[in-house]
Amino acid sequence: MARRCEYDPAFQWLTGLQEVNYHTLADFRVEKQKELDELFTQVLAALSKEGLITLEQVMQDGTKIKAQASSRSYLQEETIREHLERARRRVAEMGDPRNDESSPKAKQAQARARREQQERLEGALEELEKWQARKSGEKAKKETRVSTSDPQARVMKHPDQGFALSYNAQISTDAAHGLIVGVAVTQEANDMAQLLPAVDRVEQRLQKKPQQMVADSGYTTRENIEKMAGREVDFLGTMRHEDVPRGANLPNRFPPSAFLYQPERNRCVCPEGKVLLPQARRKVGAGMTYHIYEARLEDCRSCPRKPECCPDNKKNGRSVAQLEESPVVMAFRKKMAREEVQERYRRRGRIVEFCHAWIKSKLGLRQFHVRGLKKVQAEMLWACLTYNLQFWIRLSRLRTTPAVT
Ligand code: SF4
Repeated sequence: MARRCEYDPAFQWLTGLQEVNYHTLADFRVEKQKELDELFTQVLAALSKEGLITLEQVMQDGTKIKAQASSRSYLQEETIREHLERARRRVAEMGDPRNDESSPKAKQAQARARREQQERLEGALEELEKWQARKSGEKAKKETRVSTSDPQARVMKHPDQGFALSYNAQISTDAAHGLIVGVAVTQEANDMAQLLPAVDRVEQRLQKKPQQMVADSGYTTRENIEKMAGREVDFLGTMRHEDVPRGANLPNRFPPSAFLYQPERNRCVCPEGKVLLPQARRKVGAGMTYHIYEARLEDCRSCPRKPECCPDNKKNGRSVAQLEESPVVMAFRKKMAREEVQERYRRRGRIVEFCHAWIKSKLGLRQFHVRGLKKVQAEMLWACLTYNLQFWIRLSRLRTTPAVT
């Protein structure tokens, strides 16, 4: 772009024949975040006015984008301190006349490089301390590592099962025309805590709440289901398989669904009509409690269906685990079991993954070109703005081009 500013009339017209060099462009890319953010909001307002954004259904998804940092720069505290000590020594030596052999320009460049290296290492140490504060146990703290090139990047798992220093880019896409209505970059590898902030971002930009949010299992926690209901935003998601207490629901047995659960009477009834009474409660996660029900040993011993139900039970009758759910989560499960809701949910992959793939393949944003959370946020915002503008142009053309008869 800097080169084209020298000879291309279109670029020269845009710059008003001013010289725009690489450094000016690079600084502009990350320093004008507030203005860029405002521009992104203005574009969304215009798209909304044209009816291209409806917020009837918003798809949420995250994608991991590699940071501008090599795995060799990923170091523990001890090593960073050693490097920092060495860098400080080098900076201190700079004033020594015995080292004054190079030209003034070279000396200046060297001094700047040494100071920058020292600052980078000090920044890495600061970030490492923040990261350590979130860990418990001396061993975990000692083993904490950060990258000295981009200390704010975190190691994240990618779809190819590989791990790399990365950021998690969260994108909200309006289903009406696949336009991006919200974007953020986080250091959190997990998507779990990103759903509510995404709703806030969309609402803040468009002064309107999404009617329906759609997200995958990474976002579908009980807490999020409850909170979305509290915010009066319809939520479609899929719950992950949950661990059931050991021994309660083993394979090759009647599944728990074969037992009639009667929560109001706190009991289960087996396929043979025998009653299973409560034996224990087990908390297996945040807000999750399993109630274990067990049949009487005498009932099972004489039961003709014992081989299909609990062939190995010698001392106890058959037991099953039933999960205690809040009414909101139960309503969510019931809703998600409906075929038409599943159909709406399945649109998510097509819309949101297209948007991620476009940004990665067309704009080549598989790895950030800048370092630090604030800068990568700006780079991501540029990418999403470009995406929206390109699709706006495309949609406008489609609307103005008469159909071929
Ligand atoms: S084995 Fe026990 S729990 Fe299973 S069907 Fe027979 S009586 Fe019911």
